[in-house]
Amino acid sequence: MKIARAEAILVSIPFQPIGIPPWSWGDKAENCFDTLLVRIETDTGIVGWGEAFSRNKDRALAETIRTKILPLIVGRDATAIARIKHDLEFNLHNFGRVSGVMNGISAVDIALWDILGKSTGRPLVDLIGGAFADQLPVYASLLRYADEKNLGDAIEQSIARGYRYIKLHEVDLDLIRFAVRLGEGRARFMLDTNCPWSVSETIRNARALADIDLMWLEEPVWPPENYDGLAQARAAGPFPIAAGENQGSLFDIAAMISKGAIDIAQPDVAKTGGVTELLRIRALCEATGVDFVPHCALFGPGQVATFHLNASTQSKPVVERLYCDFEEDLYGHRADPVDGFIRVPMGPGLGLDPDLAIVDKYRVN
Ligand SMILES: [Mg+2]
Repeated sequence: MKIARAEAILVSIPFQPIGIPPWSWGDKAENCFDTLLVRIETDTGIVGWGEAFSRNKDRALAETIRTKILPLIVGRDATAIARIKHDLEFNLHNFGRVSGVMNGISAVDIALWDILGKSTGRPLVDLIGGAFADQLPVYASLLRYADEKNLGDAIEQSIARGYRYIKLHEVDLDLIRFAVRLGEGRARFMLDTNCPWSVSETIRNARALADIDLMWLEEPVWPPENYDGLAQARAAGPFPIAAGENQGSLFDIAAMISKGAIDIAQPDVAKTGGVTELLRIRALCEATGVDFVPHCALFGPGQVATFHLNASTQSKPVVERLYCDFEEDLYGHRADPVDGFIRVPMGPGLGLDPDLAIVDKYRVN
């Protein structure tokens, strides 16, 4: 079964914000999220779908995938997943081991696992060891509101929808305390600050928040590769430290763990090397006593692959879902949480294919 065709398709779908999220990723803030799809078709007619992490209608990344990555896989045996991934990484390592190229390689890996599942008639979760759970709790990963009214509305709405875990993306300590107090007893909270602070600021701010209950503190220290600094913050406490979404491979996560920087590893299947790499990272986590809780700010095949990965993990990690309602949904809402849980799709491969009419409607490149 050979790879006959491969293409990158960039889709961006508007969502209904609560308030105006000030997240802009360095660009003009827009209330829409990308799904950068990789579609691989075999000579037997099987089509697999993968996803590369993307924001802000990243046409440049789509073009990088088209021109640098996909030409290298056409004609290859579609079942040689680890070998294709290795060859792509080896041949392209000069172009960066974190970000763009790795996001694209991750997408290829996910699509090849989808093809393997479809060709064998098995869901991905079965191919990677079988399920510990057929449904998983989801956490509402709130956008950053920086405003008590909008943040409060988002918390009340997510609890009313059945979420029992909520992650904040705030950095203002009063606002964080307000949010946890508002929801405590009804939901458990995590805090993701997205790398804003120095080590000393992190230690000071974490101590100032010691009176609230947080399941974890995520990426408090700038820059994300400052593992010594993160280890210092972790040692100072009081919260478990989570990070990993800005690491590119097993070896980055291994370095974090050996520095004592994290309690919880958060590799992203659409950034950190796909299903193949996350399985390696999961084994490392198991052997080193670090929790494996994948990052997932994805809405396409990467999100669905994360369902399968989490379901096949003995600790049944909670699934991340960015909290926003899309104008239209790539999967006809079949991947949406219901009452705070998702069901793992048990069809062959990922078990869900994107709706091509929605892909066409929101395609930007
Ligand atoms: Mg994060």
